[in-house]
Amino acid sequence: MPLLVMKFGGTSVADLACIRNAAAKVKREVERGYDVIVIVSAMSGKTNELVGWVEQTSPLFDAREYDAVVSSGENVTAGLMALSLQEMDVPARSWQGWQVPINTTSAHSAARFTSIPRDNIDTKFAEGMKVAVVAGFQGLSAEGRITTLGRGGSDTTAVAFAAAFNAERCDIYTDVDGVYTTDPRITTKAHKLDRIAYEEMLELASLGAKVLQTRSVELAMRYKVRLRVLSSFDDTDENSGTLVCDEDEIMESKVVSGVAYSRDEAKMTLLSVEDRPGIAAAIFGPLAEAGVNVDMIVQNISEKTEGGRAIAVTDMTFSCPVNQVLRARKAMEEARAAGLIRYDDLIEDTDVAKVSVVGIGMRSHAGVAAAMFKALAAENVNIKVIATSEIKISVLIDRKYMELAVQALHDTFGLESA
Ligand code: ASP
Ligand code: MG
Repeated sequence: MPLLVMKFGGTSVADLACIRNAAAKVKREVERGYDVIVIVSAMSGKTNELVGWVEQTSPLFDAREYDAVVSSGENVTAGLMALSLQEMDVPARSWQGWQVPINTTSAHSAARFTSIPRDNIDTKFAEGMKVAVVAGFQGLSAEGRITTLGRGGSDTTAVAFAAAFNAERCDIYTDVDGVYTTDPRITTKAHKLDRIAYEEMLELASLGAKVLQTRSVELAMRYKVRLRVLSSFDDTDENSGTLVCDEDEIMESKVVSGVAYSRDEAKMTLLSVEDRPGIAAAIFGPLAEAGVNVDMIVQNISEKTEGGRAIAVTDMTFSCPVNQVLRARKAMEEARAAGLIRYDDLIEDTDVAKVSVVGIGMRSHAGVAAAMFKALAAENVNIKVIATSEIKISVLIDRKYMELAVQALHDTFGLESA
């Protein structure tokens, strides 16, 4: 039997009517001849509520009990989904993570899969079960405790099952109808992409496009799982949504596929750091230990005169999420006090945003950066930091110009007609 994985996110199972609507979509695939593994999230808002309960009960909670509590939302929807399917005469049953079992590491709330043995579910399919409904987001550690995979983890559960069961496709049902060239709230010219390459999706996901958990895209890329994002509120057919796939499956792609942004960034600059081997390690080591997610890094070598002598110094600029600035400053001040680093001053700019263009076509096209910078110049937007990868160019700019920059770049790279 060909097999499909269908994943329903929180808004797709928000209440009993939504669950019935999702079940009807599953039933239709069964009627088309598929065995189906359904992965469900908790009802929307439920996981947040559970996290809140844990924090109110025990501020410095035991991570194992946190996982025991927050994983429970998915157990409820798994059972209700199986019941809804049974009511529609579809032979279905639910599986909690430990029943499969979904084996994971013991890193509570950030667990990774170690194995997903197929035997239990395969046996039931062989006995006539048509749908296995599996609770997303959770697993079982070697110690026999319940684990969770991190917020948004049901996407990753879905991809892992698609890989383990050689699914024809992994359909991620959500509240948007696919992946867009940019956020439609910023420009009405944004439009849905029919296909996007894994690597592009990975960049977009890590740049903050929230449709898919980044890890799920990594996993899909590694195991070549064809992943489709589509809306559970539309009438859907085999061409709906956006297919995330290998670049070989994309016949003709634009140089730039999407424009992404991240609004709440900050830029920090350490002035006149002594320039010697090990200085970057001495700065970014303490930042990493303090849990600061450093993104862009720029180093400028210069000179300063001290006691009549020219000495080599460097200005070190980095960006991080704006809510980590205090933590970053504390880490730098402590490193300075401990004699690990020397610098003259630490300058913070908390009014910046990051705007990025992403596309696999950049590999084979020159001039994308120049076109991007020209478009921003034409709008009088000053660029503060630039970073590039093979398929991405990102700039830091003043936050108040973010929307303008996204619109200008969307126009410049002709995305409205993609
Ligand atoms: N319910 C979990 C969360 O909200 C997992 C998921 O929905 O993917 O993070
Ligand atoms: Mg999600």
